[in-house]
Amino acid sequence: MQDLLFLDKLFPAQRPDRDTTPRSRRYYLWTVGCQMNVSDSERLEAALQNVGYSPAAHPEEASFIVLNSCSVRASAEERIFGKLGELVRVKRAQPDTRVVLWGCMVGPQNQSIFAQQLPMVDYFVSPSAVDAVVALAPNAVYTLDEPALPVANWEHPPVAVHVPIQYGCNRSCAYCVIPLRRGHERSRPLAELVDECQRLVARGARELTLLGQIVDSWGHDLPGRPQLGDLIEAVHAIPGLQRLRFLTSHPAWMTDQLIATVASLPRCMPDINLPVQSGSDQVLKLMRRGYTVARYTALVEKIRATIPNVSLTTDIIVGHPGETREDFAQTLALCAAIRFDKVHIAAFSARPGTLAATQEADPALAVSEAEKEARRRELESAQEQIATEHSANMLGQTVQALVEGESKGKWRGRSPNNKLVFFPHPDDLTGQLVPVRITQTSPWSLQGQAV
Ligand code: SF4
Repeated sequence: MQDLLFLDKLFPAQRPDRDTTPRSRRYYLWTVGCQMNVSDSERLEAALQNVGYSPAAHPEEASFIVLNSCSVRASAEERIFGKLGELVRVKRAQPDTRVVLWGCMVGPQNQSIFAQQLPMVDYFVSPSAVDAVVALAPNAVYTLDEPALPVANWEHPPVAVHVPIQYGCNRSCAYCVIPLRRGHERSRPLAELVDECQRLVARGARELTLLGQIVDSWGHDLPGRPQLGDLIEAVHAIPGLQRLRFLTSHPAWMTDQLIATVASLPRCMPDINLPVQSGSDQVLKLMRRGYTVARYTALVEKIRATIPNVSLTTDIIVGHPGETREDFAQTLALCAAIRFDKVHIAAFSARPGTLAATQEADPALAVSEAEKEARRRELESAQEQIATEHSANMLGQTVQALVEGESKGKWRGRSPNNKLVFFPHPDDLTGQLVPVRITQTSPWSLQGQAV
């Protein structure tokens, strides 16, 4: 389990009806995983469209198929294997189809094994290597005056864009396969990032989320060791940018400077994702997280004291090897005490090659699947109650919603604390900040009327 949201997103949702691009220049992209994968896929889409490709809604309509994979949990890998099974039929009917398996399932150690096991795959590409995937598109059209790369050349970016600022991870949390698949931390230089953000905003992006596996460690490997706060200040100054966020932070790297920077910049949203993973020191030690519950709690107090109305979200794994019922009770107690705005909960899933997979093989430490599921449900239901109360507190308030698009006949935006806000309006308000009075709430979203 990595410190990122776990999403499951299919690209593209549909293709333009009038697009007559032939199959030879259509791609089909399917993405499973976290925000980093979603961001990589967004970039791949932009890059493929720059070289003359159009999206296809179904694999059989495309000549170039890319599966962006995730290996954080066994269930994510199973979905990819299921999808690859479907592609056997597609390749049999249209042998010229080129299939690329991309992302976290592809590591240096398993490429040769996969090559034997997955004959329907033509190429294996490591995570985030967008340019390498584009280079495999057989019918890309490059023009001299508009090079396809760098991939940040995005003609029409969405309102809210994720910008990867760092790749890989230097930590070794016991349960996590990310360092094995994405390698060591590599921060992108400040000037390159500011330039990319400027271009995105100039072309229509209004909200940027700076993305990294440990986003708050950004810069430690760069000359002069700049800090994330420095990058946030530089990006925040871009004219036209309405909102700035960042994820995912690690408690060990969250500095006073960063907290003060967020508090001082009006367009930096009071929204912090700070994975705790467990409320038990014993389990945190087994997980090799590098902090204690007391240190985490003190950090939360500092953040709340410095950033008014801050929204705090976290990630928690239940059923990690060695987690007793008492440890789990401590996690429940921590959540009740901190009252997070949102908790991303995962039942532990052993990943080959990790320390926790070895721990799970020890019957004295392993937690049964039924018990993991019971703990996941119990925590989920406790958190749902807390989220319901957080949302209910917003009833009658007016929030500034940044409108990202339309959804089921209403406009869909996000509040500063990253809650989804839906409201009706006759005009297209995409990209605008709209004050919305909240008239109805649920744990995960808000409904209202434009003021
Ligand atoms: S800090 Fe690194 S090793 Fe630990 S969970 Fe996050 S990505 Fe995995």
